[in-house]
Amino acid sequence: MSYDFDLFVIGAGSGGIATARRAAQYGAKVGIAEYDRLGGTCVNRGCVPKKLMVYAAHFSDYFNESQGYGWSVGETSFNWEKMITAVNNEVNRLNGIYQRMLDNSNVKVFESRGKFVDSHTIAIGDEKVTADKILIAVGGHPVKPDTIPGIDRAITSDDIFHLKEQPKRMVIIGGGYIGVEFACILNGMGTEVTQVIRSDKILRGFDDDLRSEIQEAMQRHGIRILTNKPKIALEEGEDGINLKIHGEKEETIATDVVSLAATGRIPNIADLGLENTQVEVVNGAVAIDAYNQTAEKHIYAVGDCTDRINLTPVAIQEGRAFADTHFGGQSRQMSYENIPTAVFSDPEAATVGLTEAEARDKYGDAIKIYRSKFRPMYYTIPNIQEKTLMKLIVDTNTDKVLGAHMVGDGAAEIIQGVAIAVKMGATKANFDATVGIHPSSAEEFVTMR
Ligand code: NDP
Repeated sequence: MSYDFDLFVIGAGSGGIATARRAAQYGAKVGIAEYDRLGGTCVNRGCVPKKLMVYAAHFSDYFNESQGYGWSVGETSFNWEKMITAVNNEVNRLNGIYQRMLDNSNVKVFESRGKFVDSHTIAIGDEKVTADKILIAVGGHPVKPDTIPGIDRAITSDDIFHLKEQPKRMVIIGGGYIGVEFACILNGMGTEVTQVIRSDKILRGFDDDLRSEIQEAMQRHGIRILTNKPKIALEEGEDGINLKIHGEKEETIATDVVSLAATGRIPNIADLGLENTQVEVVNGAVAIDAYNQTAEKHIYAVGDCTDRINLTPVAIQEGRAFADTHFGGQSRQMSYENIPTAVFSDPEAATVGLTEAEARDKYGDAIKIYRSKFRPMYYTIPNIQEKTLMKLIVDTNTDKVLGAHMVGDGAAEIIQGVAIAVKMGATKANFDATVGIHPSSAEEFVTMR
């Protein structure tokens, strides 16, 4: 049977675009459908605009710190509208680049929503196309929990990039990546931030030392973090919105019209026509095997719609492994071990490998923890009590480094390099044999005793 395309990709986010381009490079005839802007969450309302806002938020600290180094900074002010316009202009520029990249790779772009008619046919608007293989790469979207009364009064991270004005006061619900990053961004820009979480600590799943270190630093920087508040509600207030906290001690916190629900994301599979295929959905996500294959042998899925590790570089690697396997003649599986990740909080945090708790679960007492906490040289002259924390977890039987964790300036940049060593199975002796770069914070990773 002949099809219109060798591969049809539904969703032109990071995973979909990377797969389409890689398959086309191998000579496959590829089509891709996207009803929104090219680039998906990461480029349009995630990693990219968020990181630009992280840069914007840091200047308040830089102005302060520069004085210790002899600079006199005049009166400073921050213009939200100017910042948000610049961020969105950059996103527009990237959309153009994605379009050109796809055109140059001979991938045919359909600017409409793709929906399964049957397991080889996709409807895109009024048009129908057929494909030998189909990749679902439709991503996810933020979810507002209906267990919180009045949650519709909150915006999500999608909306924050389009706020016309800077909120003076902001309540953030949730203590995951998004809640923590936006709490720090807005605080850096001068918004009065209250973050409310249902447990005792932010960033569940991260190493406990990191969680405590970031939480304490955020509080020192002026963010009010309210812990152990499982029962909350949003109500109309006299002057904006009221956050009601129920429990032993009832409390009401007035906030501007904006409060942010940063309470997780779910796959975008509601309107995909999956019922017209044999593709299985488990816990709201597309079910796949180690080769990203669904229950239909010619339909595959990558990225957030599979709800495993929801990170852009993971979706990209999954997609490229799929394209290499099916169009490049090299059978390849994505490796999920030792995936590094960063939280662009202030201070920044990054991590690779096992947390201490995970390592104890797996290796019992056969692990050794190396920990170093110090004030980086940069903060000495301005006399600022900002600390960096580094931690290594080592298997005492094999000397292998099982996990590396860091809170502090440059954590993402530093851990990316350390992650190569950890992924290669480096031992503590290998770390020790590496000469440090002096003076740097990173050298601490090779000098820990
Ligand atoms: P997360 O799953 O990371 O965190 C959700 C937070 O909301 C948790 O603190 C959770 O609490 C809380 N929560 C969930 N449901 C409720 C509820 N009903 N009431 C109160 N609190 C609730 O989701 P995010 O939205 O922060 O991020 C989504 C994903 O996006 C991340 O998992 C990550 O994969 C990706 N991402 C990655 C970034 C990066 O790489 N730097 C940046 C941003 C996002 P609890 O811990 O108690 O469950």
